[in-house]
Amino acid sequence: MTFLQLGVIDPILKALDSEGYTHPTPIQEQSIPILLRGKDLLGCAQTGTGKTAAFALPILQLLYQKQTQAKGKRKIKALIVTPTRELAIQIGESFSVYGKHTGIRNTVIFGGVKQGAQTKILNRGVDVLVATPGRLLDLMQQGFISLADVKYSVLDEADRMLDMGFIHDIKKIIAKLPAQRQSLFFSATMPPDIVALSRKILGNPEKVSVTPDQTTAEKVEQVVYFVSKPGKTKLLIHLLNTQAMNSVLVFSRTKHGANKIVKLLGRAKIAAEAIHSNKSQGARQRALGNFKSGETKVLVATDIAARGIDVDDLSHVVNYDLPNISETYVHRIGRTGRAGASGIAISFCDDEEKAYLRDIEKLIKQKIKIIAEHPFVNYKPEVPAKDAAVPYGLRKKAPGSGRSGGGGGGRPRRHRSAPRAGR
Ligand code: AMP
Repeated sequence: MTFLQLGVIDPILKALDSEGYTHPTPIQEQSIPILLRGKDLLGCAQTGTGKTAAFALPILQLLYQKQTQAKGKRKIKALIVTPTRELAIQIGESFSVYGKHTGIRNTVIFGGVKQGAQTKILNRGVDVLVATPGRLLDLMQQGFISLADVKYSVLDEADRMLDMGFIHDIKKIIAKLPAQRQSLFFSATMPPDIVALSRKILGNPEKVSVTPDQTTAEKVEQVVYFVSKPGKTKLLIHLLNTQAMNSVLVFSRTKHGANKIVKLLGRAKIAAEAIHSNKSQGARQRALGNFKSGETKVLVATDIAARGIDVDDLSHVVNYDLPNISETYVHRIGRTGRAGASGIAISFCDDEEKAYLRDIEKLIKQKIKIIAEHPFVNYKPEVPAKDAAVPYGLRKKAPGSGRSGGGGGGRPRRHRSAPRAGR
C-alpha cells in the first residue's frame, strides 16, 4: 500500500517524499481513507504509531481541496486539542512539514508562557490551531479565538487528558464547537470514562485500532496464574522472592492500586516504587532513575504513566490486573523481550478477569500457559473476627461491624469467597 493508493494528493505526497516516508503505517492505512470520506473516527493508538500523520494528512488534504479565495482573515477550520506542550509543538511541526506545499497555515498555543506571541499570530489568522486545553479556553474567553468555523476537531491522547484533569475544560471546548463538523478522537487506552466521553463527541464513528507488532506477543514467554484479588500481592511477593526477577514492571489498573502494591511490597522488604500521574515529574524521574540503576527492582505503573518509560532490559512484566482492552495487554508485554532479550510476562487473573483473558487470547491468537500450582491457589482473605472460631464472649467486635455499618476508616471490606483456580 502506498500513500498514493490511499488517495493522498500531490502536494502532500511531495512533502512525504522529502520526509522519506515510503509507506503508510497501519494506523495511517486504516484512518486516511475513512477521514477522506468525511467520517468521524475513534482511534485506539499510541504516540509512535504514526498517529499524527494519520489525522494531519487527511485534514490538510480536505482543507486544501476546500480552500476558497475568500478575502479577509483566515478562520480556524481545524482544531487539535492535545494534553501537553511537547505534543502540541510536535503536532504543529508535523502540520508544517506535511503541509508545506499546501499553503495551509497553522499555529500552536500552550500555557506556561506569555500569550503575546501567540495572540499576534492568531490575529493574523490561521487555518489549523493546535492547542492545550487550558490556554485554549483562556484565549477563547478573552475573545482571541472563535471556534465557530471549525470543520474538523481532533481530541488527541484523550486518556492522558482525563488523567491530567482536563475533563471540564474539554467539555467546555466541545460545547463551543459547531454541530456540523468531522470529529476525531484518539486514545491509547479505552477505559469506560473515555468511551463515554467519545460518545459525547463523535457521531457514528468508524473505529480503528492498532497494536504494536503482533510478533512481540510471540517472542515473550507468557504465563497466567489464577488467583483471587486478595491473593495477588501475596503471590507477587512469593514470585519476587523465589524467582530470578531482576527488573520487573508491574502494571496496576489504578493509581491507588499502584500505591498499595508498593506499600505491601515495602512491608515484605522488597524495594519498589510507583509512577503515575499523581506523582510529580521529579518523583517520576527519580523512581525511573532508581529502577534503571537497579536500586529498585520493581516499578509499579499505570498504563498511561508506563508509556513514558524507556527501559529496554526488563526481565519481567507483571499484569497485576488484566486490562479490559486486549490491545493494552500487547502494549504491556511488548515492554519486555526487547532487542532479542528473553522476556517473561506474568498475568494474575481473578474470577472477574477471566473474560478479559479470553479476549486477549483471541487477539494474540494463542493460549497463555496456566501455572496451576502455586501456594495461593485457594487463598482466602483473613476471616473477619466475627466469623472466626472464637468462643462467644471472647469475640472482639470488628471495627465498624455494627448494624449501622459504622463507616469507620479501618472497616474490613467484605470479600466474596475466593474463587478457585481453573477456568
Ligand atoms: P507519531 O505516532 O505521530 O508521533 O509518529 C511517530 C514517528 O513516526 C514520527 O517521528 C513520524 O515522523 C514518523 N512517521 C510517521 N509516519 C511515518 C511513515 N509513514 N513512514 C515513516 N515514518 C513515519
